[in-house]
Amino acid sequence: MLRFFVKSDLATITLLLGSLIPLASPAASAEAEWRVGLARVKITPEGPIRLDGYAERNRPSEGVLSDLYAKAMAIEDRDGHRAVLITADLIGFAAPVGDAIRSAIAEKTGLTRKQILLNCSHTHSAPVVVLRGYRKPSVPEGERRTVLRYNKNLRGQLADLAVAGLADLKPAVLSWGTGKVGFVVNRRERTRYGWRIGVNREGFADRTVPVLRVDSPDGALRAVVFGCACHGVTLTQDNYLVSGDYAGFAQEHIEKEYAGAQAMFMIGCAGSANPDPRGTADMARAQGKALGAEVCRVLTGDLKPVRGPLRTELARAEIPLAPTPSREELERIVKRGPRPKQFTARRMLAALAAGSIKALPTHYPMPIALWQFGDDLTLVGLSGEVVSEYVPLLRDALGPERLWLAAYCNDVFGYVVTAKILEEGGYETRGLFHQIGFLSPKAQDTILTTVRDLAQKAGRRVPER
Ligand SMILES: [Zn+2]
Repeated sequence: MLRFFVKSDLATITLLLGSLIPLASPAASAEAEWRVGLARVKITPEGPIRLDGYAERNRPSEGVLSDLYAKAMAIEDRDGHRAVLITADLIGFAAPVGDAIRSAIAEKTGLTRKQILLNCSHTHSAPVVVLRGYRKPSVPEGERRTVLRYNKNLRGQLADLAVAGLADLKPAVLSWGTGKVGFVVNRRERTRYGWRIGVNREGFADRTVPVLRVDSPDGALRAVVFGCACHGVTLTQDNYLVSGDYAGFAQEHIEKEYAGAQAMFMIGCAGSANPDPRGTADMARAQGKALGAEVCRVLTGDLKPVRGPLRTELARAEIPLAPTPSREELERIVKRGPRPKQFTARRMLAALAAGSIKALPTHYPMPIALWQFGDDLTLVGLSGEVVSEYVPLLRDALGPERLWLAAYCNDVFGYVVTAKILEEGGYETRGLFHQIGFLSPKAQDTILTTVRDLAQKAGRRVPER
């Protein structure tokens, strides 16, 4: 309780007054700015299953290192505007899966897409996420069926989770702050063979840890949403145990420190950021503990109030793709070109052979979500594997204060790289995952302009251009 006495902001005083009124009184409910509902479901697979993230893995999982969860936070402002955030210890939802999940949630709750935000932690030690068309020839039929069954079940579980979150809405007080964590490094390393995945200590990494605190009106912690802009790859391709990786361990740490509270992880712009070091379960545990401890430190510090109203926006940035290279150029890429681009070039050649190259997309509709909490906080929910190098660009475009940048939301369709990285090359320039195409350098402008317009529309004061 001490922390309420050392703080002096308005929300604290409201809280203090709130605590003098009997808890169940309608007056206390009327005073609370928000109603928040929470729910969780364990999504650990029941048996061996193919894990996603490393092409080198050649067999199903062999056990469980740590359980996987999906968690919901439903939120309602004083005007009755509602939204649901769902976080999951999974690699990511591509559009076909994310859209199906959001449709299932919309059907059961009456919410629109704008009001539903999905974020996966991008752990590389969780089941393959796909709803149909899982046709990897190297995977036996029975194992493919296991994956499809898991995912079909998952869609139902997540829709029920959103319903349970909304059914739990209770008066709540929100506040937020940021911390810092040390294990995140830029992974784009320049070598004499070009840019490779490695460790680049001089490169930019976003080490901030945004923390949203959800209290009941009497000041008891009910939930915390926190972020970190780091790939979920402390466990490497030789790991065959199911795990939420460092982010799973961080959530566990917080939930142990605050019994009964729900910790939810939202990954940031981690496309070019890895944990350091990598390779063992002990490392993942240690990084999870470091992140969790930092969140707990922020929770007990001087947090800023988060007031309403809540505005939720969603746009599709039509990001331009590079013109399809000629057949000769594609053949050159496949034979001698940079390895990350070979996969996309090969698919383009196949489309050419099938006569469908003209039908290849010229743009990709990148979903961008934005939740505006009054004048206090803007949560940007970018889709795709957005590289860390976007963080300074977005801070410039939106203003750096009261800003929370999340990525991997709603649709993980490929790496989202800056124009500079496209020019440099490297793994992240490999092209889209499911559609066929390479990003154009003009995509950067489209993304920044769309985010800025969306923020303005939602009521954020953005700097003059
Ligand atoms: Zn990734």
